[in-house]
Order: sequence, then structure tokens, then C-alpha cells
Amino acid sequence: MPPADPKSLPFPWPDDVELETYHGGCHCKKIRYELQHPDIYAGPVMNCNCSICEDRGYLMIYAPEDKFHFTSGSEADLTSYEFGSNVIRHRFCKSCGSSLGPVVAKRGMVVINTRTIEDVDLSRLQLHKGNGKAREV
Ligand SMILES: [Zn+2]
Repeated sequence: MPPADPKSLPFPWPDDVELETYHGGCHCKKIRYELQHPDIYAGPVMNCNCSICEDRGYLMIYAPEDKFHFTSGSEADLTSYEFGSNVIRHRFCKSCGSSLGPVVAKRGMVVINTRTIEDVDLSRLQLHKGNGKAREV
């Protein structure tokens, strides 16, 4: 699956937007990542009410797969969980359990839990209420 077109993301990226580089990772620091994304404080962040988002505390942003890279650790250090229609692979650090956010391979998209971004100021995020609960079976 090729990386998603930034226009096809749940929150499409504006045209000609400048990308910033963010670093983040899990609590035990085994897994570190680098992410290219428009200013996370300028756009919406998904605050979904579905069962797993509520359970894991996801506050999500979206990126094409090629904008997300591990700088330390790898998929091998993660464990994953799928449920329902099994199209979304939720990823957790095997050691500390931090929820990095799921991969939606079918769409060439990664979802990043902004809580795992280094020095993120959660109070500045523009939370957008999502109603994932309505889509659950
Ligand atoms: Zn960890």
C-alpha cells in the first residue's frame, strides 16, 4: 500500500503547508520516533469516544506512513492488538505499554497518539470530538 495522500487523511493537510518535525516515543524510551506533520497546535486533534480511544486515552493526528519513522526500537518492540473488523492495528510498547497509536495499513496511514509526542502541551491542542462509538458493533 503506498503512503496515503495527505488530502485523503481524516483531517486533510492544507495545501503547501510547512511540515514540522516532531519526536516522541514510549514511556520507557525503548521506542522513539520522528514524525513530519503540520503544526499540531494549528489543526484539529481527534478526541474520539469509541471504546478503545477512551480506554487508551488517544488524542489522534494522522499522517501518511512515509512521514513516520522509528529512530530507536522497531515494530519488533511493539505488540499489537486488533479487534472488530481488524483493519486497524493498535500498537503498544512491549515493555511499558505506551500506546503510540494505530496503523491503518489499508489506507497507508499512521495514527499518532499526540500524548506520546515529546513535550506536547495538551492544553494547546484543538480537540475535535469524534463519534466512533456510533460506528462500533
Ligand atoms: Zn516502552
